[in-house]
Formats: sequence, C-alpha cells, structure tokens
Amino acid sequence: LPVVVIAGRPNVGKSTLFNRLAGRRYALVADVAGVTRDHKEKEIEIFGRPVRLMDTAGLEESAPETLYGRMRSSSESALSKADLVLFCVDVKAGITPVDRHFAIWLRKMGKPVLLVANKAEGRSGAAEAMESFSLGLGEPVAVSAEHGEGITDLMQEILAHLPPEADMAAEEEDQDKPLKLAIVGRPNAGKSTLLNQLLGQERMLTGPEPGLTRDSVAVFLYDGTGLVELVDTAGLRKKARIEDALEKMSTSATIESLKMAEVVALVIDATLGLEEQDLQIARLIEREGRCCVLVLNKWDAIEDREGVRKKILNRAEISLTQMRGLPMIAFSALTGAGVKKFLPAVRKAYEIWNKRIPTGELNRWFDEMLAQHTPPLIEGKRLKLRYITQVKARPPTFVVFGTRAEQLPEDYKRYLVNGLRHSFHMPGTPIRLQVRGTK
Ligand code: GDP
Repeated sequence: LPVVVIAGRPNVGKSTLFNRLAGRRYALVADVAGVTRDHKEKEIEIFGRPVRLMDTAGLEESAPETLYGRMRSSSESALSKADLVLFCVDVKAGITPVDRHFAIWLRKMGKPVLLVANKAEGRSGAAEAMESFSLGLGEPVAVSAEHGEGITDLMQEILAHLPPEADMAAEEEDQDKPLKLAIVGRPNAGKSTLLNQLLGQERMLTGPEPGLTRDSVAVFLYDGTGLVELVDTAGLRKKARIEDALEKMSTSATIESLKMAEVVALVIDATLGLEEQDLQIARLIEREGRCCVLVLNKWDAIEDREGVRKKILNRAEISLTQMRGLPMIAFSALTGAGVKKFLPAVRKAYEIWNKRIPTGELNRWFDEMLAQHTPPLIEGKRLKLRYITQVKARPPTFVVFGTRAEQLPEDYKRYLVNGLRHSFHMPGTPIRLQVRGTK
C-alpha cells in the first residue's frame, strides 16, 4: 500500500488534516503546540484507492533548542517509508524559519512532496500561500483542514502524486524482463512462416524448459534493445509440421495467447485484405488491453501495394476506432523481405503502451481541451470537469474528476480519448478513460 505521511512543524494542523482525510476524529487535537503524542496511522481510501496515511504530529516537543533535532529524528522513520509527503504549512502564521529548515531537509530526502497550505479558510492567506512557493516544493494546495475546504482538490493532488496503481515494484522489475510477444491471426495468414523466418534470421536463444514438451520451448529473440519472448509458439510450430491449412480459427486459443502477451502481432494475409475475422481478433486485442502491431503479410504477392495499403488503412480507421493509428507494417514472411522492420515496430508499440504522462502536462492539455469544447449541459446544468490524472500504464489509463462527471456522455469521452491519443502520440494503443464524480 502506498504510504502518505503528513509532516510539518508543530501546530500547523497536521492532526486536523489527518482526521479530515481519515474521515473521523482520530487523534487528539488542541490548539496547543505539541499536544498530540502518538504517531497516528490509518488505512484510508483516496477516491477508492487504498493508502496508508500517517501523521507525524506529536513527534516534536516544542523545546526550541531541540526542535529541529526532534522533528528530524522522530519524523525520519515515518518519512523513510513515505511514497508521498504532505508537507503542511500554516498560512495564518506565515512561512517560518522552521518551515524553511524542514523544507530544505525534505528536499534533500528526495521524496515526492505535496505542499499543503493549511488554515486557508475562505480563501484567506493567499499571499502566504504564494510565499510558500519559495520553499521550492512546488505549488501549494490551499485547504482548511478544520473547515473541510479544499479537501477534494487535495485528494485529487494526492492521487496524482502517488505512484501508479499497478504495483511499481513489479513494473520496474519488468524493465529487465523480456517483452512478451504473441503472434496471432487467422489460419494461413503466415504466422508459422513468420516464426520460422524470425528464428532463422535472428540469433535464437532457445532451450527446453524443465517439464515441458519439446513443442513448448521458450523462444527468445534479441532486438537490439532487449529480449523479446515469443509466447505460445507451440501451436504455430506444430501446425507448421502438420501443414494443416484447413484449420479453423479458434477464438479461445487466440484469447489464451493474447493474455500471455504484452504486444500482439496480428498477422493478416494482405492478398485477402482486412476481413471481418481479422477485425474480430483486433477487437479482442483491444478488449484485453494489449497493444497491437498489424502485419500485412505476403507482401511479395501484392502488385498494387499502394492501393492495398490504403484500402487496409481505411478499413482499420473505420472499423477499429478504439485503436486509431494502429501501427501497420508490410513484409513477406516467406522471402524475409521487410521482416527486419518487425521487431522495431513491436518495441515501439510496447513503449507507447507503457507511456506515462506527467500530471502537470496532462492538466494543461486538459484545460485547453475543455476550453475548445465545453462539456455539455445535463438536465440544464453544466458538468464541471476539474482534473485528469493517469493512474496506470499498460495500457494507458486515465481518470477524469469533476462534479457529476459520471454523467459525461460517451461522445465527450471519445473526444478526450482521441485528444490524448493525438496530443501525446499514442497511436494504436488501447486507451482507458474513467470518470469519477466529486462533490
Ligand atoms: P499460419 O496458419 O498463419 O501459421 O500460416 P502458414 O505460415 O502456415 O502459411 C500459410 C501459407 O501461406 C503457406 O503455404 C505459406 O507458404 C504461405 N505464406 C506464408 N507467408 C507468405 C508470404 O510472405 N508470401 C507468400 N507468397 N506466401 C506466404
């Protein structure tokens, strides 16, 4: 669980903020510096996302000569676990030397910090909030923990500053792992031929895995960047031996292999064009949230290459609107001509699928999108969209927050998804957009 730690000098309102976020009175709060004693901790939800909230209040007694030292030593253990630090300042009191001291120390720790300008009820303390910019911890979020003002904004900011939902440790680990690629397509599209071509052309690193039959050897290719593991090749190899050209497409087998994969190469027979069955497979890939590279195979047998490419491109644009800009490459698996473009295209698609867009950049874009095209009226009232954040990658997944945002019509969501795809260069990949209403 991500850990969010509330820190700051005594009496800035840490416990009140803790209680406000935790949803009930939990710590002892009073208007006397240093009155709370214990280290508070609670599991809470920020817009449905569980986090562990910790309060460092009471970690500091107010004996001035030892204040810094005590704040440091006692906060240090809590802060070392933090995925995000909410650094509280008191805009009524203004920015004090202790705040500055603490801020410098926090910056050195290198933890993500969100600056919270507390006691800003009724928008008071704007000048001090401005002053808190000078702490070098970014833009302050103005709140009144006591009056419950600005808490929604704060929660949105917290969510935006948290590490992405998909376990980050697992994802970082993934960087050294081979990219998992599945080759799918209708029978006779040339999948087995492609596999053989890849194995013949690239340095093959195969080895029988213990306990598996010979059909299930793992196949790895090196593409210049890293390893690519071809998943579920057993079926392809076996079939190549039997040369069973009449085999029917099995949807469940296709789903099985795409579940194992990160990138899916959809091989089509270019002499037949992009047909309904191919589109069906493409939709399965989209539904599973995988990224796709469309392979136009048997390119050696095509005469009007320009015409065929255009026709397929058109069909894809019309029929696969959820995968606009699908990467397309054409080659001959049989002769090998053009096959060297294959793995780079796979790697590129994979990078797009893994893309993360910084929240600041995303919201500047969002404001422009809203200005260009105002969200619609629903029952006479305008939806107020406030904020967007990317909650995960693989595939890129975004959450839009706003008042009554859950009523946002599909066409407006499409407008946003298409905009994301276009502005942040994410052709082809599935993009998920969720909306959440806020008060
Ligand atoms: P799979 O069912 O998708 O595995 O398809 P296969 O790899 O078994 O290929 C089906 C048929 O298409 C075989 O006769 C292949 O020789 C042929 N084929 C595959 N790739 C090409 C290609 O690039 N050009 C041409 N002309 N024929 C191909």
